[in-house]
Amino acid sequence: MNKNVIGIDIGGTNLRFGIVKKTGQIIHKIVRPTEADAGKNAVIKNIINGIDEILYIAKVKKNSILGISLAAPGFIDIDKNIITFSPNLPGWRNVNLGRIVKDSLGIPVTIENDANAAAFGERWLGAGRNSSNLLCITMGTGIGGGIILDNKIWHGDKGMAGEIGHITVNPDGPLCNCGNYGCLEAYSSGTGIINRMIDAMKKGKKTALLSMIKNGINEITPEKVFLAAKKGDQLSLELVKDAGRYLGIAISDFANLLNIKTIILYGGLVSSFSLFAKRMKEEIIKRTIPSFSKEVRVLKAGLMQDAGIIGAAGVVFQKNGLLRFCSVRHFRNN
Ligand SMILES: [Zn+2]
Repeated sequence: MNKNVIGIDIGGTNLRFGIVKKTGQIIHKIVRPTEADAGKNAVIKNIINGIDEILYIAKVKKNSILGISLAAPGFIDIDKNIITFSPNLPGWRNVNLGRIVKDSLGIPVTIENDANAAAFGERWLGAGRNSSNLLCITMGTGIGGGIILDNKIWHGDKGMAGEIGHITVNPDGPLCNCGNYGCLEAYSSGTGIINRMIDAMKKGKKTALLSMIKNGINEITPEKVFLAAKKGDQLSLELVKDAGRYLGIAISDFANLLNIKTIILYGGLVSSFSLFAKRMKEEIIKRTIPSFSKEVRVLKAGLMQDAGIIGAAGVVFQKNGLLRFCSVRHFRNN
């Protein structure tokens, strides 16, 4: 019997559940609130209830499920199936989510970092489907990344590979959420753009953004900064161009280090790609080894919101020998 996998993308706002075939097709999908603020136990309950619900709605029996695969934000001990720390899930430290879900449902459980899962989804069926090696950068509130090397997720020694958001792009730059200064995330993430705008306004710089935030600086969002930039606001334009510039610097460092030419951008900020793409590309051309610089391709993600579900499921199919990539150009399913 062809078994399916339940892929679950655990976001700060929503839990996205999908029953995925070994072709990558999602045969049923539901989205439920995460309720992260209600605490760890509430989220775990929502995950387990969501799995029960999707099995019930899709009329799928547990014994036809090969495994459950959770794409979770934060640091994962993939050997122990433990979420060691998750900044977006308050109170989550050393949570043995794999064992809890397995004990509750009796189905094998895998946990993968969400950026890694998205990268694998993009490799399998998204913008990276012709690339054995790639970097997928998630651009949202923060900046994450997943690296695919030889068609597999590269985890590194401690499972934390791909944290491109915390590459230093300016040693004298602004404070980052991680405690360091001048990380890519401090310039090119949603939080980075907001913080830099607030900082500039406090220093007295003029911006047309003021007309969009009648109730104070708490109303600043990256979308509003992008909109103001589009309308020609100089300060917003400067910050958006900086976001592109530092992203380009980080990409060229990565491309020089690993000789990987496929870079995929994923996440909420990618919808404003056209505003920062030019500045990003200039840096990539300027800083990447000349014989390689023109080959570096920065692509928008192909799967968008389903990348986490599909990628998480794909990891289980690959582990079980049911998903094999034949070459850089083709893949096949057994
Ligand atoms: Zn950082």
